[in-house]
Amino acid sequence: MSDKKILLGQTLGFKADPFEESFDNATDYNSDGGLYIVDGLIADLGDRSDLLSRYPDVPNFDYKDYLLTAGLIDTHAHYPQTRIIASWGARLIEWLNTYTFPEEEKFGDREYANQTAGFYLDTLLQNGVTSTSSFCTIHPESVDAIFESAEQRGMRIIAGKTCMDRNAPPGLLDTPRSAYDDSRELIARWHEKGRLSYAISPRFAPTSTAEQLEALGSLWKEYPNCLMQTHLSEQLEEISWVGELFPDSKDYLEVYEQFSLLGERGLYGHGIHLSDSELDRIREVDGRLIHCPTSNMFIGSGLFRLCERKTAGFNTGLATDTGGGSSFSMFRVMAAAYEVSQLCGYSLHPSQLYWLATVGNAKSLHLENTIGNFQIGMEADIIALDLYSTEVISQRAKCSDNIWDTLFPTIMMGNEKAIKDVWVYGEKVKTYNSS
Ligand SMILES: [Zn+2]
Repeated sequence: MSDKKILLGQTLGFKADPFEESFDNATDYNSDGGLYIVDGLIADLGDRSDLLSRYPDVPNFDYKDYLLTAGLIDTHAHYPQTRIIASWGARLIEWLNTYTFPEEEKFGDREYANQTAGFYLDTLLQNGVTSTSSFCTIHPESVDAIFESAEQRGMRIIAGKTCMDRNAPPGLLDTPRSAYDDSRELIARWHEKGRLSYAISPRFAPTSTAEQLEALGSLWKEYPNCLMQTHLSEQLEEISWVGELFPDSKDYLEVYEQFSLLGERGLYGHGIHLSDSELDRIREVDGRLIHCPTSNMFIGSGLFRLCERKTAGFNTGLATDTGGGSSFSMFRVMAAAYEVSQLCGYSLHPSQLYWLATVGNAKSLHLENTIGNFQIGMEADIIALDLYSTEVISQRAKCSDNIWDTLFPTIMMGNEKAIKDVWVYGEKVKTYNSS
């Protein structure tokens, strides 16, 4: 028998990209709406009264003035860095050596990996984040741990074994052969199993030899519907290091290009200091640039020019980059994107911020027909937001006369207290505020 339910409340989705259409035309808002859910999928949506009369015997959950939106999506994270988030005082290379690598060495221990993966995914849900694309460590156990934990929670996630065969401690090195073999085995075990999918994941050019990048490029050719995630042009010191390690490449991007690691299903974290030529080559293949503003400020990497990239036609994602990013909350990330954009001379509208964290991120992951919006046939990952979750937010939101002005204080100042309930594939999960 089918599992049917109706969720009622204010509903907010998108009809178009608010970077391309006017904010009003892009917004799909209903002040008294609802969603009809059958077996984890959105089967109908519209006005409260219409849904109640069309499906009279279906149980309903009435959120009244709470705002229902698609679950938030994180397009770049490192779950093994959960326990070192907010570690003080280092720039990128020093950060990796001081904090990241010693912590990642622990993930050969399956029990430790399980505990961290479970805690990480529960933390995401507390923050209304229902999907993520995460790097793991070089240990296949770390990949099994997060996929099993996601499967238990019914979440749609993407993850992959982080491959490194140089410039890291001996305990964190694989080889070109083992990176290829392990990744291939993990793809067979997890890719497209239920809601899970695999991303081939070389950490970044400095920690892979040419041979390893070549092996992973070949693997991507064998499995072209896998995503490929890596880092690109995050800090100036990193870029000069790449120049020393790959003296025959004309720039950072060419290192990936020459090993067939540039493509439409490629996710390139950061991409702050790219030349015009590099930008042109990424745009030509529709590669995804992933903006991680909390991380860029925390590690002092620089200002990503989001508006210029969007205007130039890039598909751009928005992400926490935890633990380099200092929060698991996509509200904090949206707020940081707003602030970074202000420094670049452009005020992002709340509809643009929220679109990026939902539809835009689903698009970056090639999942725009599956998650990130309210449309018939899409998976029912839904959050119920309290737009008055603290006194300060409440007094500001109450002075607003449209949904975007009402939501903006939560974007800028909200935390997990604003997440009333989370639904994953049509099932309610326990969170911070749920009863
Ligand atoms: Zn990262």
